[in-house]
This record gives sequence, C-alpha cells and structure tokens, in this order.
Amino acid sequence: MAIHSIADADVAGKRVLVRVDFNVPLKDGVVGDDSRIRASIPTIELILDKGGSVVLVSHLGRPKGKINEAMRIAPAGRRLEELLGRPVTVVDDVTGPHAREKAAALQPGEVLLLENVRFDPREEANDPSLAKELAGLADVYVNDAFGAAHRAHASTAGVAGLLPSYIGLLMLDELDHLGKLTASPDHPFVAALGGAKVTDKVGVINELMTRVDALLLGGGIANTFALASGQPIGASLADRDFAPQAKEILERAASQGIAIHLPVDVVADTSIDGPGEIADAGSVGDDQSIFDIGPETVEAYGKVLKEAKTIFWNGPMGVFEKPAFAKGTLGVADAIAASDSYSVVGGGDSLAAIEQSGVGARIDHLSTGGGASLEFLEGRVLPGVAALDRKE
Ligand code: ADP
Ligand code: MG
Repeated sequence: MAIHSIADADVAGKRVLVRVDFNVPLKDGVVGDDSRIRASIPTIELILDKGGSVVLVSHLGRPKGKINEAMRIAPAGRRLEELLGRPVTVVDDVTGPHAREKAAALQPGEVLLLENVRFDPREEANDPSLAKELAGLADVYVNDAFGAAHRAHASTAGVAGLLPSYIGLLMLDELDHLGKLTASPDHPFVAALGGAKVTDKVGVINELMTRVDALLLGGGIANTFALASGQPIGASLADRDFAPQAKEILERAASQGIAIHLPVDVVADTSIDGPGEIADAGSVGDDQSIFDIGPETVEAYGKVLKEAKTIFWNGPMGVFEKPAFAKGTLGVADAIAASDSYSVVGGGDSLAAIEQSGVGARIDHLSTGGGASLEFLEGRVLPGVAALDRKE
C-alpha cells in the first residue's frame, strides 16, 4: 500500500483537515477521561510546528444525524485548548457558514474545531456531498482517528479521495502495535473478551478462532455462550438470538482444539445495586443477573494468562463501575500486567478499567480503538486506512 505519513508531508502555509477521535465521555458539559484528546496532540503539534494550520473534525457519541445539545463538541475543544496551550476556535456547524468562514480565515499555527460531524446525516452515509464540503475547508487531509477507522464515513473515508491524504502519527502507532498481533504473534496467543456490546463482539469470535489458542470470556459475551452451552443465566445481559450460533462456535472450537473458557463461578444479584453473591455457573436464579466472573474463574483465567506469550483484551469481565462487581475485571487486568507477554488492551471501558487498576504502565499497548482494534485483529482491512492508499 502507498500510504504516506504526515511526518513526511510539506504542510507549510497549508490548511490541514485532521480527522481525530474526540469521542470522549462528557459529564455536565465537562470531558471525563481525556486520553483520546491527549493521543491526538502529536499530530496536531507536528502540523503546527511545520507551519500549517489545523481544521479538526470528530464525532462524539451517537447523535444519529441530528443536532443533540448534549453531544456538542465544544467541551472537547476547551480541553484541547488547555492541553495545547493555544487557542482553539470551535464552530457550531460542520461545513456550514461558520465553519467555512473560520476555515477560510485560518492562519498558520491556528486551530479550528468543527462541530460533531455525526450531527450531519451525510456523515455515516458516506455521502460524497459532505466529503466534498469537508475537502473544501482544507488543502490536505490527515486521518488520525483510529477509533473510527473501521467505519467508511464521509470524514474517515470519502474525503480521503478528494485531497492529498496522509496517515497521522496516532494511527501509525496503533497499526504498528496491533500489527504485532497479526503478523507473527508468539504463542500461546490468548484473547480475553467481555463487555456489553454483545452483538458487536460475538461475531468476531469466529474470526479470532483462526488466530488465537484460547479465549477467555466474561461480561455479556460469556453469558451468551453460557446460555448456548445450556446453562441458565437468569435475567443476565446476553444476546439470546445469537445463542444457536454460539453453540456452533463452541463445537467448532472443540474440534479445532481452541479452548473457549467460560466462567466456572459468577457474582450475581437481583439488582445491579446489590452486594452480589458468588454462585457456581449454572446455578443462577431466574430473577438474578450475572454481574461479574467469580473468584475461581479469576484464578483459572489468571493461569491461562500467565502462560500466554501474546494477549489481547477487549471488554470488562463485569460491571466494574460498581465495586461489588469489579473484582473480575481488576483481577484480569492484574494478571495481564503480571504476565510475561506482549499485551494489548483496547476499548473505552477496558481502558477505564486499566486506569482504575493502575497497571497501565505494564501493558505494552493501550489502544484508543475498541471496535477498530477488534476488526483489525480479525484481519480485516480498515476502511479509514484503505482510503489513504494512493495506489501509486
Ligand atoms: P469497551 O468499551 O471496553 O469496548 P463495552 O462498551 O463493550 O467495552 O462494555 C463495557 C460495559 O460492559 C461496562 O459498562 C460494564 O459495566 C458492562 N458489563 C460488563 N459485564 C457486564 C454484565 N455481566 N452485565 C451487564 N453489564 C456488563
Ligand atoms: Mg464501551
């Protein structure tokens, strides 16, 4: 592929449209975890140092093509301003009159942030008219939004064909680290999967089975597979429609010698606010929900992780936001940190759990992309990366 790094581009005097991933948690109009904004700084500073100006565009949340006051991008702009130590102009439209006026007046060293691009219904439709309007705001395009690279949208893919396009430093770093998982990983290669986005994630297990030696399941995914293997899961979060497919996956894994580990014990309760009680997997009551993996499971998963030479983790093992249901997730985080492996963790909530456990420095790579890192690991070409290929 002929993909060019922004590090090699001459952007002096040019306006550079940078697709960033500022999809950060907001609470009462203030940015919570700002790690995605921090991760975008190197590319922004590089362009400014080279004498260019920057037009930033990002999505935030899922506004579904409509203006949503709670998902305005401005708080991210304020945080960026603090981190950069220079002014950031924020406009309240994506490619409307305000955006066009400010972009046209941009001087070298200046930074403009466009409104949440998903307020425009043409973004997710990858509508060429939006791509054209975005391209009209700048001279050069950079994609540095790894977290959105698995989406072919107007700001992540469409616009790349309309301007000289480059890959950003964050995106390069992500591909470099994740590439080690797919190129020639040391075995055993163990993937731990959990979390709530069950429907998004269960499908990838099929693909992961071609690469990994063992899968450790927690969260809603474990519940789905437990159901498929005939265990009662009460009122637990699960993708019940997927259970028949999960059953097939379990059978195929057994015939291929891939170990799919399910919890042997769980922490369950009738309410998410409850203290939780440890129960054997398979003995969960109808009115109970599984909110975490149990202590025996943490120990068993820990043993598998200890032997691993390569580890990928996406999705908390339980409702780690509640102390009563955090032990499974924190236990797995500790085991990954203690292991002598090449370790990669991806996913917004998974990173929050790593932060909470304080073991981040002992993980080899913390990926800013959850869905994107999973799709990369499946061996798929990410549309946001493919669009940067100039096919020379
Ligand atoms: P990530 O952001 O790391 O990709 P997800 O967004 O898929 O992960 O899932 C994170 C969420 O999953 C957390 O808010 C956590 O509370 C929830 N979760 C994990 N296990 C369970 C469970 N057993 N039941 C309900 N929610 C769960
Ligand atoms: Mg999440």
